[in-house]
Amino acid sequence: MKTKPLYLDDSYLKDMNAEVLEVLPEGEGQHRMILDQTVFYPMGGGQATDQGELKGDNWSGEVYQVINRDEEIWHFVKTTNTPTVGMKVHGNINWDRRYKNMKLHSAGHVIDFAMFLLGLSPKTLVPMKADHNKNPHIVYQGVLTEDIKQKLEDKSNELVSQNLKFTWYFQPLEDLQKEAIYLIPGLPTNKPLRTLKLEGIGAVADGGTQVKNTGEVGKIKIESIEKEEGLTLVRYSIAG
Ligand SMILES: [Zn+2]
Repeated sequence: MKTKPLYLDDSYLKDMNAEVLEVLPEGEGQHRMILDQTVFYPMGGGQATDQGELKGDNWSGEVYQVINRDEEIWHFVKTTNTPTVGMKVHGNINWDRRYKNMKLHSAGHVIDFAMFLLGLSPKTLVPMKADHNKNPHIVYQGVLTEDIKQKLEDKSNELVSQNLKFTWYFQPLEDLQKEAIYLIPGLPTNKPLRTLKLEGIGAVADGGTQVKNTGEVGKIKIESIEKEEGLTLVRYSIAG
């Protein structure tokens, strides 16, 4: 990857300076660009794309979508002037949007850690995937006969009230294996893996942006727990 993903180290960075490395046309008044570094989070891992703006000398563009494609981070930009390779730009993300997405993403992990503390995940319910966008939910393989909605909400909010620290760092798979509560199959073994750790509870592999502590997530509501063809869907929302 040509781009340094600044958001992986610091989720709270709102802007950056960058150099344009590649530009491709993307239809009428639109281009996609690769930058040497970025604070823009590309859609993925259930977290929505960042949006915002890029500005250079006599040039500006509106970033409407950022996608990780073919191992490169592409900024999709609406602009009246064609951007040029080598141009210096300043980028700003729409922080309100990102912060909401970040809180929703961290909330999903709080619920997942609560599932683990309740002894349900990863054995009875196997974590599969999640969406932290407009209809936030987590999908587990397996179903329960017991109704755990209230119990899961209480446990999640207990973690919120404890204001536990989230930390993230890169480490080899063998080290991550020692502290992970579970690992999804197929993680790369040839590069350091980004680890998300919740203070006193455990760690998972994760590539998204996170808030600093569980208190920042705010009150979590479990909207429903649905069973579908051997899967369990936990739908949730946050107050903020
Ligand atoms: Zn995640």
